[in-house]
Amino acid sequence: MTTAVTRDAERTTAAHGIGRVAREVAGLHADDVDRSARFPTETFAALREAEVLGALVPGDLGGGGATLGEVSAGVGVLARQCASSAMVLAMHHLQVACLARHGRTDALRRFLGDVADRQLLIASATTEAGIGGRLRESSCALHVQDGSFELEKQAPVVSYGAQADAVLVTARRTPDSPPGDQVLVACVKPQLSLEQVGQWDTLGLRGTCSPGFVVRATGSVPMVLSDPFADIAAETMLPYSHILWSHVWLGIASAAVGKAGALVRKKARQDPGTVPPGARRLAELDVVYQQLAALVASTLSRYDEGAGGRRAESVGDAVALNALKVGASKLVVDVVTGALGICGMDGYREGTPFSLGRQLRDAHSAALMVSNDRILGDNAQLLLIAKDPVAGTEGNQ
Ligand SMILES: Cc1cc2nc3c(=O)[nH]c(=O)nc-3n(C[C@H](O)[C@H](O)[C@H](O)COP(=O)(O)OP(=O)(O)OC[C@H]3O[C@@H](n4cnc5c(N)ncnc54)[C@H](O)[C@@H]3O)c2cc1C
Repeated sequence: MTTAVTRDAERTTAAHGIGRVAREVAGLHADDVDRSARFPTETFAALREAEVLGALVPGDLGGGGATLGEVSAGVGVLARQCASSAMVLAMHHLQVACLARHGRTDALRRFLGDVADRQLLIASATTEAGIGGRLRESSCALHVQDGSFELEKQAPVVSYGAQADAVLVTARRTPDSPPGDQVLVACVKPQLSLEQVGQWDTLGLRGTCSPGFVVRATGSVPMVLSDPFADIAAETMLPYSHILWSHVWLGIASAAVGKAGALVRKKARQDPGTVPPGARRLAELDVVYQQLAALVASTLSRYDEGAGGRRAESVGDAVALNALKVGASKLVVDVVTGALGICGMDGYREGTPFSLGRQLRDAHSAALMVSNDRILGDNAQLLLIAKDPVAGTEGNQ
């Protein structure tokens, strides 16, 4: 079955080589990555070779100058084979977007050039012990002296922290600042150390390797991103995270629909002239999949305006992007569950071409990656101030 993910892939990912990496590398290792909860080392070696990690670095700094739509399509293609690899890539692209749009100092521009040149992998530490998923609050603070900063953060979840070359960390601007007066700081090895706390043995997305760490870093003040974190979060993190993540979920759903379709066609071939009972359920499943694909594509189209993309600026933008996150994270579970109903024991059992255990477990992370309850709580407040609470679009400002 040709799905939205594979069609987009043909259109946009050739330049970045992701289609080949997904097929020839990520798919081969995905089950072992999941079983062993290990980092997808082979996939990232291949992505580096194809220079994918610099895709969102502007062309004048030596990067690929790709659009949000292009990198999102690549993430979706990868997720069809290995959702952990795709989520790591999605999170990396998100960090690069923050740097490219909000890092204007010479030091940060040089660092972005290094990301493209040396294919550096960048992780994120926003979640904090005692604060949880409240993105717009920090407890840790920057201590600045003589043009240098020092910080220490208790970070309960840092994906691929052990493998990353750098981590973007949220912190209060000074030790006297209130929790919401935050900056985003680029912390780069070897001036960055990560002391692992606990293990990453989870239901799904096991290859993201996201245990807790005590993050300690020093650096020069120009490595602090130029804009306040409030602006970075609203203008860039919100659209890039929800759009890139939703492409991971679309890729997972696409894999599940693909397996269900292959099984139904196999059964049809076994009994020529009859329509297998799963065919009608497949048609119903495709309706749900198309809803997910349309939601993802329509939200992307609002922000995919060439290299750099459009910033999310309005209440309507925030409402729509939050709705994408909540809607897509629910639909992916519906799609994979529906596919499991079609595949039956062949889907439930591990090690068959139709096994859906990994996809189902990975899909359940979607509602937690920034809790849907928290996001719905945000939208509940935003819709109170929006003029037209139904649409949540441009007319609301
Ligand atoms: C696979 C994966 C990878 C991740 N990688 C990273 C990473 O690299 N870096 C990073 O910083 N973080 C990362 N996170 C953390 C993530 O971004 C969230 O911060 C984290 O999942 C929130 O955890 P929580 O649900 O315990 O906390 P909270 O969001 O604090 O929620 C705690 C509980 O409170 C409930 N709740 C919260 N707000 C409301 C509300 N308004 N109304 C009702 N109930 C509410 C929630 O339902 C939840 O049950 C990752 C998470 C996952 C699953």
